[in-house]
Amino acid sequence: MMYGRVFNFNPGPAALPVPVLEQVRDELLNFSGTGMSVMEMSHRSKAFAEIVERAEGGFRRVMGIPDEYAVLFLQGGASLQFAMVPMNLALEGKPVDVIDTGNWTQKAIGELEKLASYRIAASTAGEGYTRLPRREELDLHPDASYVYMASNNTIRGTQWAWFPDTGDVPLVADMSSDILSRPVDVSQFGLIFAGAQKNAGPAGVTIVIVRKDLAERASKDLPTMLQYRTHIGKRSLFNTPPTFGIYVVSLVLDWVEREGGLAEMARRNEEKAELLYSAIDASAFYECPVEESSRSRMNVVFRIRGGDEELEKRFASEAEAAGLVGVKGHRSVGGLRASLYNAQTVEGVRALVDFMKEFEQKYG
Ligand SMILES: *Cc1c(COP(=O)(O)O)cnc(C)c1O
Repeated sequence: MMYGRVFNFNPGPAALPVPVLEQVRDELLNFSGTGMSVMEMSHRSKAFAEIVERAEGGFRRVMGIPDEYAVLFLQGGASLQFAMVPMNLALEGKPVDVIDTGNWTQKAIGELEKLASYRIAASTAGEGYTRLPRREELDLHPDASYVYMASNNTIRGTQWAWFPDTGDVPLVADMSSDILSRPVDVSQFGLIFAGAQKNAGPAGVTIVIVRKDLAERASKDLPTMLQYRTHIGKRSLFNTPPTFGIYVVSLVLDWVEREGGLAEMARRNEEKAELLYSAIDASAFYECPVEESSRSRMNVVFRIRGGDEELEKRFASEAEAAGLVGVKGHRSVGGLRASLYNAQTVEGVRALVDFMKEFEQKYG
């Protein structure tokens, strides 16, 4: 394997495209003739201003982001957005409608408890989050401040194939684990956020795409750093941003564009997911707990039939010994999970499927 690298199925931080890492290596000591690393560069320098512009421009082109939206590079992870979104977008007397689909929406609800009134517009908790709500199950109100959802549930292995029509109510989506994995119509959303470390870059950068008029809802009494308008006004340079992370994100966007954009990413992600799900479904040894129409192309959650935890542990450790790293399920749900973000290759998924067959022959 190139550079002795393994097939990396980690859920996040996760694999990055090798050409991106090679470029980082090549430019590490002297970025573009500046005589210094991006890590050593002033965030007020011309060279860094160009990097931020490249990252923002990359997002705008790749995702087709309209001009009335700002693209921000913030810190604090997706988890800070669980609080920043209600702080900025929740209106007095207008509850937030939340679609609860798993651990990450639960975390967001935890912050809403402290900050704003909300209603559960739908929840599949009763079914162990093994599927997403159906259209007719959504109880959405025209007086809501906004509707909140997670487009891909990293832990439960579900992903929305469609987005609710919320009319004039802004739709807010946590896209941490599927941003850049497929085309989306940004104009359907009021705000999209994502921690970069799953599909867009290294840990430490959070991407926020927000319709600028919505950022004006916030009270000016909020702490300065917690207002979107601060970062919109300064184009993510109010304070020292995560400079190196933004640089790597800009390279990931260049790579996505070179490879054919989001339509091509979606095609590859579908091919990889299909390979793995069909191997699981064809076997009597493995099973996928997620309803077919809700299955994620990013995080494939599966079990050894009967939920044999000892055997699952053995699966994860033998897989790792075979160079297939990170296939353990999230500690809160157990089982197995393979993350198939953009940087995962078809070759990597084939190797996993081959390993699964061998493991079944040995222990099935
Ligand atoms: C990983 C993840 C988060 C948490 O991200 P942090 O950057 O660690 O705060 C939130 N939502 C989803 C969907 C995730 O996958």
